[in-house]
Amino acid sequence: MLNRRTFIGVCLGFSLLDAKTFKPWHLGHHGDFSFKQMAKSVYIMHGAKTRDNDAQCFIHNPAFIESKNGIIIIDSGASYIVGKAVLNQIRQISTKPILAIFNTHHHSDHWFANGAIVEAYPNVKIYGHRNIIDSATNMYLQGQERVTNQYKAKTFHLPSYFVEDGDKIEIDGEYFSIQHPKSAHSNSDITITHQKSNVIFLGDIVLESTLGYFSEISSILENIVFLEKLTKQPRYTLYVVGHGTSGDYKKTVAPYLYYLSSIKEEVSKAYKEDKGIFELQEAYANLKEKFTWKEDFYFPLTFLKNHMEFVYAELENKDNSF
Ligand SMILES: [Zn+2]
Ligand SMILES: [Zn+2]
Repeated sequence: MLNRRTFIGVCLGFSLLDAKTFKPWHLGHHGDFSFKQMAKSVYIMHGAKTRDNDAQCFIHNPAFIESKNGIIIIDSGASYIVGKAVLNQIRQISTKPILAIFNTHHHSDHWFANGAIVEAYPNVKIYGHRNIIDSATNMYLQGQERVTNQYKAKTFHLPSYFVEDGDKIEIDGEYFSIQHPKSAHSNSDITITHQKSNVIFLGDIVLESTLGYFSEISSILENIVFLEKLTKQPRYTLYVVGHGTSGDYKKTVAPYLYYLSSIKEEVSKAYKEDKGIFELQEAYANLKEKFTWKEDFYFPLTFLKNHMEFVYAELENKDNSF
């Protein structure tokens, strides 16, 4: 028979015991954060939308899969503090040990938190693409950078289990298939498909409500090729983006592909007309016009300019390499 407390809890749609013990992560004006179940045994905690002090570097989308005997994390986060908070939030759902971590690429916001997980579970296996090592070393593990970033990461723990395009990895009865475009958002990107749920984790190859950062080891043109490849694959249950909100193909891959392809189209047109990199005003105006398509899109125009120049340089390099 229901007692009075339980009865009220059932009426309100939750258990009073859970309400009492459940503690979300509070981040100032951003509000409360906790893992939400998105598919069978798949949980995601979408990060803050803006990078300010209140966000405490929590701007990515950590996820975990609960297997029979443990937990597999995808992207631990940007700092030791974020890693502790991610672990604490996992604990609200499961007390099983952390068996493994996948890092989707070498940018600090996806792996600096590994140390907090290793501290609690020294035997955790960390998976990633081999290129993470060189790219992270070049970016974070040298000179002053090393000192500053070590403070945020506390200790560096990069992947030591390397995965390649086409690999199928088994961890505690869960199967994951890996895709690796040679160069897209970076040169170390992997996507991870959890086979049982058919959920794909895309890292920063796809971003939602924000725009990407491209460096000398990125390729916008190859990022487009990979998104076209994804488009041809049978639809996944859920597309988990690196930043922003995850969703179906239409809400995630399609708009980002449209953004990148539009840049390619406009810049290629100017390039074919023999316009120089500083003569992209018309292309810029056309693109600005196009992107009224999404009102809540975080769209600083400096990004657009950078991306246009990036594509221009890629087209030029391509031509010069023949
Ligand atoms: Zn990134
Ligand atoms: Zn990122």
